[in-house]
Amino acid sequence: MAVSQYKSLYQELMALIPPSAHRILTTPPCQLSKENTPKVTYKYFKVEDFACSETGENEIQDVFVKKLDELREACGFPFIVTSGYRSPNHPIEAKKSSPGTHAQGIAADIAVNGGVQRRKVVHSAIILGFKGIGVAKSFVHVDTRKGTPVMWTY
Ligand SMILES: [Zn+2]
Repeated sequence: MAVSQYKSLYQELMALIPPSAHRILTTPPCQLSKENTPKVTYKYFKVEDFACSETGENEIQDVFVKKLDELREACGFPFIVTSGYRSPNHPIEAKKSSPGTHAQGIAADIAVNGGVQRRKVVHSAIILGFKGIGVAKSFVHVDTRKGTPVMWTY
């Protein structure tokens, strides 16, 4: 059907409808936005657990949190996320030349209390395929970066 035919059909239809209803018919179809996107739920986490501590922004990735749910399940003790998503304006990220994994929404630091918990997180993270693992005294960083798997200390 040609555009001109659509236009005349449209005008015919509009003539049949009271002007008060025109707005309803001309409102574009509902778009998914942050406000009306269905909330994804996880077994052990809330999306809010990953909000940037500096700005409150939260671009944590759904696939990452699903993976962290698996890690939490494997470890069997409560996880405290000490850092999740970090805005590019967060002081730690602002120093970097390119966005780190926290700023990409694919990383979290998990608090650990002693060597048994630390080992459990590291061991399970390797088995589950987390590619970036940073080992600190009080936390373990895990991320799902692409490319060569790496591990570091702080
Ligand atoms: Zn980290």
